[in-house]
Amino acid sequence: MAGDPRRPAHLSAVSFAEPALRLTAAQHQAIVAHCFDGLPDEACGLLGGPLADELEPEGIVTSIFPCRNADASARTYTVDSRDLIKAMRAAESEGGDLIGVWHSHTHTDAYPSDTDVRQAAEPGWIYMIVSLKHPEPVTRAYRIRDGEITEVEIQIV
Ligand SMILES: [Zn+2]
Repeated sequence: MAGDPRRPAHLSAVSFAEPALRLTAAQHQAIVAHCFDGLPDEACGLLGGPLADELEPEGIVTSIFPCRNADASARTYTVDSRDLIKAMRAAESEGGDLIGVWHSHTHTDAYPSDTDVRQAAEPGWIYMIVSLKHPEPVTRAYRIRDGEITEVEIQIV
């Protein structure tokens, strides 16, 4: 990923937060497809996987849950509350929990907006953003804790 011309300059010497986010190519494709399906609005969904302890995900994604954007907006997203409950139950029934959320940026880079940072209520979650600004979608992931953004490496396994 080094030398990626789409990477914002301030991330050029990035050190990633642990753990890395690990998902399959099929999961990644389904997430990106869900983001395209949501156009012109932002799309969002939830990631399920095992926890290393009470708060910390192991980083492995075992399930993805495409959700409705209750805002139906091209600028903001709120995961539909019924979809959230359904995904939570499904993740728990697999012995894991929700470990993160993805959403799309239709016209901006794959970097958390001020609103994303303000609304990041789950310090244990991994926040994945799919940018559809360029012809090729760009996917990145972050931890957002106490207003501080740290990039998380995405490993397609
Ligand atoms: Zn956003």
